[in-house]
Amino acid sequence: MCIFCKIINHEIPSYTIYEDETIIAFLDIAQATYGHTLVVPKKHYDTLLDCPEDVLCHMMKVTQMLTKQIMEKTQAKGFNILNNGYEIAGQVIMHAHMHILPRYEEKEGFVIEMHENKDIDLAQVQELLTH
Ligand code: AMP
Ligand code: ZN
Repeated sequence: MCIFCKIINHEIPSYTIYEDETIIAFLDIAQATYGHTLVVPKKHYDTLLDCPEDVLCHMMKVTQMLTKQIMEKTQAKGFNILNNGYEIAGQVIMHAHMHILPRYEEKEGFVIEMHENKDIDLAQVQELLTH
C-alpha cells in the first residue's frame, strides 16, 4: 500500500486540514512554504491522468476552496498550484495529488524557473498536436 493510502487508512498520522467522502487534504511533511498542502483523492490513482472526471473536478474545486482559505488565514501574497506527473517531472509518491504552495516572497522554499528552449520549432509542434 502506498504512503498516502496509509494516511487515508489512518495507519500513519497526518496533519489533516480537510476531509470529505472523496478527498483528503493534509500538510506536506516537508513544508516548502508556510501552509504547503497536498490535496489527495481517497481512492488510489497513480497520476492525475488516471483520475475519473468527477474525482478530478471535485479535487480541483477543493483545491481552489482551500487555496482561498489558506491565503486568507496566512496572508500569503500569491500561490502556486502544482502537480508532478511521473518520475521525470518530480513525482515521488505515485498517488495522484495537487500541491498548494502559498507564496510570501519571490525566493523561498519553492522556486519555479522556466527557461526558453529556442531549438523548439512552434510550427512543427502545432502540426504534431493538431494532426
Ligand atoms: P511529489 O514529488 O509531487 O510526489 O510530492 C510528494 C510530496 O509528499 C512531497 O512534497 C513530500 O514532502 C510529501 N510527503 C511524503 N511523505 C509524506 C507524509 N507522510 N505526510 C505528508 N507529506 C508527505
Ligand atoms: Zn495510494
